[in-house]
Amino acid sequence: MTDCLFCRILAGEIPAREVARSELAMAFHDVNPQAPTHVLVVPKTHLSGPAAADSESGEQIFGPVLRLAVQVASQLGLAERGYRLVLNQGPDGGQSVDHLHVHVLGGRRMKWPPG
Ligand code: 5GP
Ligand code: ZN
Repeated sequence: MTDCLFCRILAGEIPAREVARSELAMAFHDVNPQAPTHVLVVPKTHLSGPAAADSESGEQIFGPVLRLAVQVASQLGLAERGYRLVLNQGPDGGQSVDHLHVHVLGGRRMKWPPG
């Protein structure tokens, strides 16, 4: 989608600090990090958000996106102490970019409940 921010990052039209990529997903640093490590993992094809998990394409893509998220956490040294994976859906969920993304947050102790 030409008007989608993350599709434009995937197309190389907007720069991002890439961390890793797989056949179906790409990981890059969040521009406004909320933790010492804050990476976004996105599918290479456009899916609007977590709710897309309830679709045929979502079913095929969620596994690979989660897999890359866990690989990135290990790659960045978060596996031992732990980390948080976040998916925001819609306005009440705090979603601001309508292209599915998993936040990988780590490097500090996370709070619960979330804000
Ligand atoms: P959401 O609020 O939709 O769950 O998360 C969107 C995330 O995208 C936010 O954490 C925000 O900081 C990040 N973001 C917004 N614009 C850009 C950008 O141009 N580049 C990168 N790397 N991250 C962005
Ligand atoms: Zn997109």
